[in-house]
Amino acid sequence: MYGSEYNKVTDKIIEGLKDICGEDYVIHDKDSMESYTHDELSTAEVKGEYPEVIVKPDSTEKISQVMKLANEKKIPVTPIGGKTGLTGGMIPVYGGIGLLLERLNKKIEVDEDNLMVEVDAGVTMNELYEAVEKKGLTLPIHPTTGDSQVGGTIAANAGGEATLKHGVMRDYVKGLEVVLPNGEILKLGGKLLKNNTGYSLLHLLIGSEGTLATITKAILRLYPSSEESKFIIVPFDSGQNAIKTVSDMMKKGIMPVGIEYLEKETITHGQKKVNENWPTEIGEATLMILVSGENEDEILEQAQKIMLICQERGAGEAFLATKRQEMEKIMKIREGIAEVIQEGNVTGHRSGDLVVPPSKIPELIDKAKKIFNESKLEGTFYAFGHAGDGNVHIEGKLPEEGVDWNEVKKVRDKWIQEAIDLGGDITGEHGIGLIKKPELRKFKSKEELRLMEGIKKLFDPNNILNPGKIVPEDEEIERRYIKI
Ligand SMILES: Cc1cc2nc3c(=O)[nH]c(=O)nc-3n(C[C@H](O)[C@H](O)[C@H](O)COP(=O)(O)OP(=O)(O)OC[C@H]3O[C@@H](n4cnc5c(N)ncnc54)[C@H](O)[C@@H]3O)c2cc1C
Repeated sequence: MYGSEYNKVTDKIIEGLKDICGEDYVIHDKDSMESYTHDELSTAEVKGEYPEVIVKPDSTEKISQVMKLANEKKIPVTPIGGKTGLTGGMIPVYGGIGLLLERLNKKIEVDEDNLMVEVDAGVTMNELYEAVEKKGLTLPIHPTTGDSQVGGTIAANAGGEATLKHGVMRDYVKGLEVVLPNGEILKLGGKLLKNNTGYSLLHLLIGSEGTLATITKAILRLYPSSEESKFIIVPFDSGQNAIKTVSDMMKKGIMPVGIEYLEKETITHGQKKVNENWPTEIGEATLMILVSGENEDEILEQAQKIMLICQERGAGEAFLATKRQEMEKIMKIREGIAEVIQEGNVTGHRSGDLVVPPSKIPELIDKAKKIFNESKLEGTFYAFGHAGDGNVHIEGKLPEEGVDWNEVKKVRDKWIQEAIDLGGDITGEHGIGLIKKPELRKFKSKEELRLMEGIKKLFDPNNILNPGKIVPEDEEIERRYIKI
């Protein structure tokens, strides 16, 4: 529907791109482009695609010129950040220009008076943390792997395990510099804590997954970094009891940084994978609670209050990880769980980060497990998630051979429908990108889709910026790239 409208990248266009970016920063041999064909999304789910050419501009002005050229010649452009996304969002499905942000990484200017940082979009999250922590400040959320870039993390509106207390990326973005698909440079917001000037284009662009504009700079809010943090591990005899303690804590004004929910089988597989022992008995459900405070005494005081609340719900003996090695061991098992799940055939990312009101997590998990067990699928059901913020990772690990992918699709759709019926939605963290487009169309109202498509057309009338993502529909592209 859309692909045929694009022109190919000709030698003349490559020369034009070299004039803008410099000879060394325009690449079009296949071998050098291989690593820019896919993100972290399992290749079992979606195959990658080569751009026709890659450009590596190092300034906003050069990006603007690249966009002007691409818009005039009707060449698709896909912004590529740290490639850690989990939705295929940076896969250049129509070829064209892969716009790498990695050389836009010079500026990290910390403003200690206003507690803000002005940062180039290509700076990695790890580089950003290091720079602000040197000044005794922090960006309290650690939403991704650290290899992701500031621009990509804003484009994905990433969240993470600290969302319960500290929110998501959107809560920290106060200003953006962006390049529109027609090449115009736009500055939105600033070092402002309040700003009600018209529609918030700033917030529209946060989470727009590179489909409306390319982010080139951001102003982020910082906080003094005075906090230490520790894990408390608490086993429960049921998921319901575990989740009820989360609202018990909130009602008593206790706000941990994050709360992870883990089911028995999930922990068992995780510890086996990394050959480590979980520090408590493994209950039917376990809460992994991250608490923070200015010093150890403050953390201990908070931990005691939390453990008391958990006991009132019949929790088993809790464990407070005070030593670094203990924290690392727990994280190792947690990472082991993610590794086990990602190996081989799985139900996958299209239903992997559902979000429901936090109190509904056990209900969703029970229903999802029942759907999985009653289906024709063989395999193991896993459930874990950010209990505090309602973002559950549910996954079915499937046999190596003979998977009935039509049945997987049916199971996945039923899971999504259950989440929606419980007042939830399709994705709490990873976004729509390429992989969840069919689900967006299936589960959102026509009116919502009409508005989204209208916004896309307004920003990008030629549909050149990251086409084939979020909206609009292109069944052929979806059939070609989404294998299951
Ligand atoms: C191990 C692991 C853990 C993760 N944990 C979390 C987590 O806890 N929470 C969470 O929310 N996500 C998580 N993610 C997902 C991922 O890290 C985020 O989506 C990430 O922020 C993407 O950033 P990136 O720079 O890698 O972007 P990419 O993957 O390169 O791109 C992501 C999307 O943003 C667009 N884009 C990239 N840069 C720009 C830009 N400058 N301007 C406009 N658009 C741009 C791309 O076109 C694409 O659509 C995790 C991923 C991994 C691999």
